[in-house]
Amino acid sequence: MRSALKIFLISTFFFLPSMLFAGDDTPLVVAGNTIIADIAKQLAGDKANIVSLVPIGMDPHNFDPSPADIRLTSEADLILVNGMNLENWMVNLIRKTGSPAKIDTVTKGIQPIFTGRFSVQVDPHAWLDPVLGKTYARNIANSLSDLLPNHEETIQFNLMVFLDLLEEVHQYSEEKLQEIPENRRLLITSHDAFRYFGERYDIPVKSVLASSPDAELTVKDMIELTEMIKTSDVRAIFPESTINPKLVNQIARDNKLIVGGKLYTDSLSDPEKGAGNYIQMLYHNVNTIVAAFSGEKPKAEYSIWKSDFGDTLMSLGILVFLAACFLWMWFNVKTQHGG
Ligand SMILES: [Zn+2]
Repeated sequence: MRSALKIFLISTFFFLPSMLFAGDDTPLVVAGNTIIADIAKQLAGDKANIVSLVPIGMDPHNFDPSPADIRLTSEADLILVNGMNLENWMVNLIRKTGSPAKIDTVTKGIQPIFTGRFSVQVDPHAWLDPVLGKTYARNIANSLSDLLPNHEETIQFNLMVFLDLLEEVHQYSEEKLQEIPENRRLLITSHDAFRYFGERYDIPVKSVLASSPDAELTVKDMIELTEMIKTSDVRAIFPESTINPKLVNQIARDNKLIVGGKLYTDSLSDPEKGAGNYIQMLYHNVNTIVAAFSGEKPKAEYSIWKSDFGDTLMSLGILVFLAACFLWMWFNVKTQHGG
């Protein structure tokens, strides 16, 4: 119930700009996921209304668009897609709405990594490598400049600032990840999302599931994974924000691994959880990986504590209020009877 309310609030937050600006001349840019939407926001500022169809915390591989998504897509001036087979549902959505928007693929120019399970399967998560993030930013800046020729200078200036931030996070990642001893370097995650990241920073990767979270786990996969864990000195396994952590927890128990902090791969986090924008998300993932590899247990998330504590406080408050009401009524009845 609480999560349904949360999804409603987040969706409202994401759609609010388009509701507020509906009717004005500001162009509408629709992105497939929160990461692409954030890069576009950093570059366009208030010159465009930018919305992500997939809300925070939801899986962009498999998404069921709502009537509001259909309306947004049909009204869009520009649609930004990741491509590399990430959002096949969007192809159907665009076809269904007959949207006249320009459709740009933001991974243009990136050499895809094939996942090896089937030769046609591509890892779509190129954004997890900050150096490739620069290609995303350049492509998105070009698309926005075409859409907003009067603001090209502002967009190009914002792009320069953004590229510097990406270079900083890349340098930081390189430095921090080098601290991990070579025999411990095996990054095991829920789904196959870290190939570009692993290649950039020389970290072998292994996933419980394939490139899409809805892939089936086979016995062969499980044996292969257990073997890799045994032959390395790896200490941690990582859950991801958009995927049920059950399997990761099970593998951790069976192999005596630490369950590392949650990684944000396919979606940004709520702003208070430290991965509220793309740059923060890149820092968060590197810090979480390095901490777990050095044997640190993840800290309990403040927001969980906060929400549980908040709920307990609220329940106590209601109880105290009800008790006070009851006492007041009882006192009144008693005084009337007494008088
Ligand atoms: Zn993914």
